[in-house]
Amino acid sequence: EIGYVNGKYVSLDEAVIPIDERGHQFGDGVYEVIRFYNGKPFMLVEHVERLINSSKAIRLPIEQSVEDFNQLILQAVEKSELKDCNVYIQITRGIATRLHLFPNVPVSITMTVREAKPPKPEMRDNGVKAIILDDERWANCYIKSLNLLPNILAKQTADEAGCYEAILNRDGVVTEGTSSNAYIIKEGKIFTAPLTKQILPGITRMAVKRIAEKLNIDFVEEPFTTDLLLSADEVFVTSTTSEIMPIVKIDDNSIGNGVPGPVTKRLYEQFQLEIAAL
Ligand code: PLP
Repeated sequence: EIGYVNGKYVSLDEAVIPIDERGHQFGDGVYEVIRFYNGKPFMLVEHVERLINSSKAIRLPIEQSVEDFNQLILQAVEKSELKDCNVYIQITRGIATRLHLFPNVPVSITMTVREAKPPKPEMRDNGVKAIILDDERWANCYIKSLNLLPNILAKQTADEAGCYEAILNRDGVVTEGTSSNAYIIKEGKIFTAPLTKQILPGITRMAVKRIAEKLNIDFVEEPFTTDLLLSADEVFVTSTTSEIMPIVKIDDNSIGNGVPGPVTKRLYEQFQLEIAAL
């Protein structure tokens, strides 16, 4: 494990953030999580591009190019000597006496590199449970912002209900999970929420779309309701850390036969092939 704070490598327990750090005080920043498999990053450029987009969306003055961030991240992973790991990178509006207005100071860039803790194989083999909750987040969920309070509260509620994830909805229309994108399979087609400001444009979502096209499975980016979610043939969620995770029960309703379905399995098999070929 290793930490990085504004140009210096640190051990994780020594990484100290000043009280007047805007990430700490306001959640005034953005972040990314990038998975490395056997020393190779999965879709690094896409993650870095999203980081830069999130930064621009909250008007962080970023000087680094995509290539600069690539170097920074690759160097940190090399330094950590970890092969299967997650890089967490965060950019905030810097360190300045607490005032809401933007300070005229450099941004802070911090990172951690930690060993990946993938979900247990039986979770993917048997599928996991989810609950449906209201999406109480703000209007700009396409930004990977540090402000995760509604996500955290919903995830905790899910966990306390014995569930892996909460699938969120606005007025009965599914947006996404608390830390994942959500999909249903109906009559052999994949449906997922379209890329609007209401959801994060997931990098794993991008991978699933590419894989679906390769496998000739229709990938339909259209809004769908919680009713359709409950009556779907298959449901799954995706994220960098959980990859493709089958959902077999939502609230008290079994999905399909209550076991991971064939389309989800095919997608995951192809996903694993892509990882093996990195
Ligand atoms: N949606 C939300 C709200 C997330 O926090 C995440 C990831 O943590 C995702 C979707 C999935 O994004 P990705 O596949 O890029 O990890």
